[in-house]
Amino acid sequence: MGRNLAVLTYGCQMNKYDSERIVGILEGLDFQLTEDLTLADMILLNTCSIREKAEQKVFSQLGRLKRLKEGNPDLIIGVCGCIAQIEGDSIFQRAPQVDLVFGTLNIDRLPYMVREVEKKRGRVLEIAEDCNPDIQSPLTFRESRIRAWVSIIQGCNNYCTYCVVPYTRGRERSRSSSVILDEIRGLAEQGYKEVTLLGQNVNSYGKDRSDDIDFSELLSMVEEIDGIERIRFVTSHPKDISVKLMYAMRDLSKVCEHLHLPVQSGSDRILDMMGRGYTSEEYLSKVDRLKSLISGIAISTDIIVGFPGESDDDFKKTEEILRKVEYDSIFLFKYSPRPETLAASLSNHVPTDIKEERFDRLLMIQKEITLKKNRDMEGGIEEVLVEGPSKKDRKKLTARTRSNKIVNFSSNRDIKGEMADLKIVRGGLYSLDGEVIERGC
Ligand code: SF4
Repeated sequence: MGRNLAVLTYGCQMNKYDSERIVGILEGLDFQLTEDLTLADMILLNTCSIREKAEQKVFSQLGRLKRLKEGNPDLIIGVCGCIAQIEGDSIFQRAPQVDLVFGTLNIDRLPYMVREVEKKRGRVLEIAEDCNPDIQSPLTFRESRIRAWVSIIQGCNNYCTYCVVPYTRGRERSRSSSVILDEIRGLAEQGYKEVTLLGQNVNSYGKDRSDDIDFSELLSMVEEIDGIERIRFVTSHPKDISVKLMYAMRDLSKVCEHLHLPVQSGSDRILDMMGRGYTSEEYLSKVDRLKSLISGIAISTDIIVGFPGESDDDFKKTEEILRKVEYDSIFLFKYSPRPETLAASLSNHVPTDIKEERFDRLLMIQKEITLKKNRDMEGGIEEVLVEGPSKKDRKKLTARTRSNKIVNFSSNRDIKGEMADLKIVRGGLYSLDGEVIERGC
């Protein structure tokens, strides 16, 4: 009989993707996924260290798991992901109930590591500094049968002064185009309709390889794969997004009209201190060009409030950029110092109450913009990919527009996994409501 596995995932898409790989590999060892921690024989925490809060959450969860382990000494507790990569051995000191710690580049070694834990009934630690991105276990559990993530480049070379990723995921390593295309062809054969190409900075794809295929060319190759109807990608660094890529987005019919382009701040002084490599003017000129080339493009972004030394004037400039771009959605973060990063050693930290005030202000402005943009879509027709029953109302279906907006609608047919045309009848803050328009009418 199989054993039960629970995986708790914190942080970004990259971690979610890694968790799918972890589950796939462990299913190959006869583990089956459970959400009930009390039934689990093994619990893995795939951790994130991008913010202090995410790190605190992991250690409080480990505190709760300690009690579970007291009742079930055979329970295996593992910590992986970014905290494991940075803290390594010290996790065992902080949380002695942990049996296994492995880094972001060690996932494929899981069968060996699990055997070692079981054999030794003791602690196992594996933290690699480098790996070959083309050698990856094909066993991946995928949560969706319709949309899949495909990693194309791992790591980051940018060393933004607030960010821990180059320390947790290493330098950029692109997977070979043939390995990526084979994986996507396999997904198309299994019926997947949409792929999201994943990387910390997808625009750097290929720069570390000698085969001369850049990101735009990779997109053109994915476009040729029959069965795949939609292509998305995250994340794009504003300094690296090229005119060639903008034209590829315009010309390739499967590439969706949505771009996540993290601006982080509207102030040139702060952007410089963050080491982002662009000014607000350069950023805005790229956004203008994207909007003029790609009709209806939706743009989302990340913003950090309260970077050390951020003055009222700097913050005003972030407010201004929000209003100028009119983002479709934003991910807002309050700055928190991360170990090893340059920004952590800066003085002049912004008090928490001011960070909170600025956070709330941006959120309020963005809500107005999002609502207005979603209302403007009322009456229009959108092509959507149907994902399945709506989480809020199981009698309805939920689907996604090319611009990455969620639409809920009723249908008397089960059209999960199919493309459909919907008339948008209501634009809300978090989702839209639609009505099916029969194709061919
Ligand atoms: S581009 Fe900057 S923020 Fe993004 S992962 Fe790399 S270092 Fe971090």
